[in-house]
Amino acid sequence: MATYKLFLLPGDGIGPEVMGQVRRVIQWFQDKGVASFELDEGLVGGAAYDVHGESISEDDMKKAMAADAIIFGAVGGPKWDGIPYDKRPEAGLLRLRKDLALYANLRPAIVYPALADASSLKKELVEGLDILILRELTGGVYFGEPKEITDLGNGQQRAVDTQVYETYEIDRIARVAFELARTRDNRVCSMEKRNVMKSGLLWNQVVTATQKDGYQDVELSHMLADAGGMQLVRNPKQFDVIVTDNLFGDILSDVAAMLTGSLGMLPSASLGAADEKTGVRKALYEPVHGSAPDIAGKGLANPIAMIASFAMCLRYSFGMGDWAGKVEAAIANALDKGYRTGDIMQPGMKQVGTVEMGDAILAELETLA
Ligand code: NAD
Repeated sequence: MATYKLFLLPGDGIGPEVMGQVRRVIQWFQDKGVASFELDEGLVGGAAYDVHGESISEDDMKKAMAADAIIFGAVGGPKWDGIPYDKRPEAGLLRLRKDLALYANLRPAIVYPALADASSLKKELVEGLDILILRELTGGVYFGEPKEITDLGNGQQRAVDTQVYETYEIDRIARVAFELARTRDNRVCSMEKRNVMKSGLLWNQVVTATQKDGYQDVELSHMLADAGGMQLVRNPKQFDVIVTDNLFGDILSDVAAMLTGSLGMLPSASLGAADEKTGVRKALYEPVHGSAPDIAGKGLANPIAMIASFAMCLRYSFGMGDWAGKVEAAIANALDKGYRTGDIMQPGMKQVGTVEMGDAILAELETLA
């Protein structure tokens, strides 16, 4: 049995609380002899600043680089609001994304049957929804130069951000999209604004060419990103994998997220390039939510996004898609039985805390195994 190196970075606020439940799931896998994990743990965000004066230490960066996968909780909180900008808690996460070159951000939007009523859309539009938004994470307008505000000297200022993409950046994210689609419903919809943006035109051309170069079995369609936003709330179930740039992906993935109900339910993965020898990608898995200072330390946090992020790790880093499916089914079954944390509480359901939700999911996993 292979041993996988996991590096845990619980972070701040509810991060350590939800990570505690992932530790139990990891232990369950070890006890069952399903997989073997070598665990190490580090500090990130405010927790790292308090000890090292940095949002992540060089030593922990080395461990992150050497790990097969990083499981990340959340960072930030009012305690660290006043610290220098380059040492702020989020800087640790941004450094990890940059140094590991995690260019592909996967945000699934899945509606669990028991929570179809919690969506802002009508139940029939979202029931059974299972789409994946793939956002380019290291290029585009958030990083392009020049990026500046200049004083025009006449009482006016001029702000510039630069949307820039090169062929290789589009090609590599398109390849991830096609490969992911093959493990799902085999359909990719690429979104850009080729009608008004040169970068959109290149995006469209490169994705089209990449599909011809080895992915002709995958169905490819194109949509203007604004129309895509409209379609996401009109008929979200028409999509399988959506691939788009950093800016549009930021917005469209948040739109898709809200179709599913609560922040406490949303996992994510960020993947980098595949190792030439082993084929294993650098990877970081994290819930979409933040450190939730308003409920931190109270045992109230919903651990589902964090546990579902670990399920993504099983699927995308360790080729354990069957077991990932079982963890996801255990979550769905716990919800079916009426267990709810405060953020997803509905009338007539059983309100539980972080640990009890962990108990319920582990009990269902045991049954499914
Ligand atoms: P947040 O996601 O922490 O919380 C927003 C709301 O959702 C809060 O009411 C919170 O209680 C609730 N919530 C979030 N996750 C939950 C969970 N698992 N279970 C139950 N309820 C949950 O966002 P925010 O309040 O805007 O930010 C709080 C801090 O987190 C800030 O310091 C922010 O910078 C940081 N943040 C970090 C990340 C990250 O680590 N990736 C992401 C977003 C925000």
